[in-house]
Amino acid sequence: GDRFEIDAVAIRDLSRAAAFEQLRAAMNQGQQVALGFCNANMLLKALCSASYASTLKNLVLLSDGIGLDLCSLLFRGRFFRENLNGTDFVPALLGGDARGRTLFLLGAKPGIAEAAARKLALLYPQHRVVGTRHGYFAPAETDAVIAEINAAAPDILLVALGNPDQETFIAEHAHRIDARLLMGVGALIDYTAG
Ligand code: UDP
Repeated sequence: GDRFEIDAVAIRDLSRAAAFEQLRAAMNQGQQVALGFCNANMLLKALCSASYASTLKNLVLLSDGIGLDLCSLLFRGRFFRENLNGTDFVPALLGGDARGRTLFLLGAKPGIAEAAARKLALLYPQHRVVGTRHGYFAPAETDAVIAEINAAAPDILLVALGNPDQETFIAEHAHRIDARLLMGVGALIDYTAG
């Protein structure tokens, strides 16, 4: 099938090309998609915590890493079609998208998202970073952060707060965030900034 379910967690089993196609179609139609890259760490957390499991239910999950593959092998006798992690997936999604998208980068230490934005402008001239915000804010600042994102109204919101925080942020707030595709991307902003 095109999904693997273990306990309360459902992970899509898609090729990268099929995932790209579905995400671009959703964006083009103005639908919102909240996406997570589920690694073994997140899966274990979800299996041990009902609250994290219900958080993950709000996200479309892709399979990130060998831990998920081993789990899939044990339970259904085969690997996932592809290993999809944010650090490879997002650059390929952006690079292969002829249609210009707007992006907001949320996360990493102060200054890093801005450096990543400058790199993205060089790498993907068809896209435009319309906002950045570092990821070290207090819960009381969450509304202000969301207001900043909504003022920019990006097509794509990259959330790099580490897990579980990035998935929780997306799951809790996606309904009031004006962005089409929200993705929890781990170390991608650091990695892009170089
Ligand atoms: N991060 C953040 N705010 C936090 C904690 C982490 O913005 O409160 C950022 C961190 O700077 C890094 C990214 O989240 O850019 C991923 O963090 P880390 O590698 O610690 O998380 P992991 O995904 O490996 O658990």
